[in-house]
Amino acid sequence: MRLCQIDGGGVGVIEGDVMRDVSSILDRLPSHRYPGMRGDALIAALPDLRNEIEAIAIDAPRIPIGSVRLASPVANPGKLIAAPVNYQAHLDEAIEDTETFSRAHVRRIEETGLFLKATSSLTGASGPIRLAFPERRTDHEIELAVVIGRKCRDVATHEALSVVAGYCIGLDITIRGPEERSMRKSIDSYSVLGPWLVTPDELGSPEGLALSLNVNGEPRQRANTRDLILNVPSLIAMASRWYTLEPGDVIFTGTPEGVGPLQPGDRLHATIDGLGALDMRIEAA
Ligand code: MN
Repeated sequence: MRLCQIDGGGVGVIEGDVMRDVSSILDRLPSHRYPGMRGDALIAALPDLRNEIEAIAIDAPRIPIGSVRLASPVANPGKLIAAPVNYQAHLDEAIEDTETFSRAHVRRIEETGLFLKATSSLTGASGPIRLAFPERRTDHEIELAVVIGRKCRDVATHEALSVVAGYCIGLDITIRGPEERSMRKSIDSYSVLGPWLVTPDELGSPEGLALSLNVNGEPRQRANTRDLILNVPSLIAMASRWYTLEPGDVIFTGTPEGVGPLQPGDRLHATIDGLGALDMRIEAA
């Protein structure tokens, strides 16, 4: 199943180039008394509600996707976890380019571990991405994004894919410079998820997916998830040793080689096999 969030409220199921509005499913979510739950209530309830969502979709009107504004497919993630350099070729380019990449930030992921991005930085496929400091170099990073489906800790690598609710394209937009990663990557609109959540039964394995990113039609990033240094199960195992993972938590799996600067006015086009495409406008904030 491919599940989208409609900008302004509502949920849809994607079928080919149409969306079925299944927003009535939101009435079935538990109403929480304060302090409520942390994380995303719809993702948490997905295993229980999935049959009902598919039943609603059958009779729902067919709406062309082009006429729908898409928000992040995860509305309320408790945390955005991200892998730093996690492709060898990107590590190599970062080591060579000392002007752009701070020395402290180019070490292997097994040493550096993971970092967190602010959830307020999240936006969906309809964007736009707003460059907050256009005078500083701000790069695109395409990444496979993994959405956690249930609360877990200390997940074994061989069981890790069982905690996944789905996958989507992630963009980890980044200002280069000396500040902490969590600051440079957490500006509003600097975390993009979309265009929709694809469940594991629909996608199949997260290994061997081709990623591509163009800016103004010019190829920038071309890679394949088979070249991840730590693959999806290893990242989930690592993250869950340090953090309790909760429904709606997102893991950005790291970007491959070819990162490059964005300017106001640019058009960014990103695809990952089986997950669809993002077409984003870059604007000045
Ligand atoms: Mn990244």
